[in-house]
Amino acid sequence: MPAPTKIERVETILWERWLLIRIHCEDGTVGIGEGGVHGWQRPTKTMVDTMSDYLVGKDPSFIEHHYQWLYRSSHFMGSVVQGALSAIDIALWDIKGKRLDVPIYDLMGGKTRDKLRCYMHVGGVTTDELVASAVAAAKQGYTAVRFTPYGSDYYLHKSYTAWADEAVERVGAVKDAVGGDVDLCVELHRQMSPAESISLGRRLEQFNPFFYEDPMLPDSPARMADVAERCNIPIATGERFTTIFEYQQLLESKATAFVRPDLCLCGGLTGSKKVAAMAEAQHVKVIPHNPLSPVSTAACVQLGAAIPNFALQEFTGESEPPKSDLITNPLKMVDGYLIVPEGPGLGVELNLDTIYNGENPKILDTPIGFDGSVQDR
Ligand SMILES: [Mg+2]
Repeated sequence: MPAPTKIERVETILWERWLLIRIHCEDGTVGIGEGGVHGWQRPTKTMVDTMSDYLVGKDPSFIEHHYQWLYRSSHFMGSVVQGALSAIDIALWDIKGKRLDVPIYDLMGGKTRDKLRCYMHVGGVTTDELVASAVAAAKQGYTAVRFTPYGSDYYLHKSYTAWADEAVERVGAVKDAVGGDVDLCVELHRQMSPAESISLGRRLEQFNPFFYEDPMLPDSPARMADVAERCNIPIATGERFTTIFEYQQLLESKATAFVRPDLCLCGGLTGSKKVAAMAEAQHVKVIPHNPLSPVSTAACVQLGAAIPNFALQEFTGESEPPKSDLITNPLKMVDGYLIVPEGPGLGVELNLDTIYNGENPKILDTPIGFDGSVQDR
């Protein structure tokens, strides 16, 4: 066992939609993490800075204890707190792995698999563009593709009929193009009401999608359960949830076939491992949410490598700048599978030359509908 050490300082870096952190220890170990409240990165950065007052001088090895203290210390919770806490949790696991010279999955029970099947984001404003994108992903070896069934102006449609007809046409076109060897992951992005979502879902059943993601806003498990019961496509949801308590309600309601913990939002590796175990007890599988940087991907891979009920990994591509510039030793992607790395901790390191080039946080906005009203994204 290495001699005990203490946390010396916590560093935060804002770039694109990413909030990256580095926790420096007195023995020279540096752990990296990411917070997942994209859209509210600046307040989440401030929260990490605030939490660092507690962390400095503490032994980094007491991960669960620090988690409990940070979660329960100030009475009020929420996404900014959990985004900051998640970044810290991931960095503390990275530190523990590095200090013990083992991958994080070894500390979580050992490897359950050698590689993780990924679904790739594809898209296009026109149906032809969408089909070309899906076919290109299939040619690269991906066996699952994810797309929204609407064109880019989905929220401007003036009738449900036009909206749903377009969705059916696009999903059918992708199905025809990629054939039976590629699963379709249909992402609704919370755009529809439960009734609209049920109606569309029934029309999409013919294409046998692998999952139907966020068919409505996620905050009513009872209504989500209604969608799950009344259309025959497995539901995938949970990417906005920040705690095990929300997942408990979701699972109790039988509202989803797949849980979608975002490691950078729902308590890091500590929180997500608990969500996976809760899901396992109900034979529900895990598809980690991963719209962020390669640090998030690396954390997802450690979780997926350790749990028995991993199903699929979200992947948005990391071979193009700026993502490709962020990591010095990127994970290997082979034929649509991320290879589980052997290195200590997360198995990746930040490219400091690149990330210190400038802070440029990307701010999410929300669409305005044809009548001027606020829509959901
Ligand atoms: Mg999503």
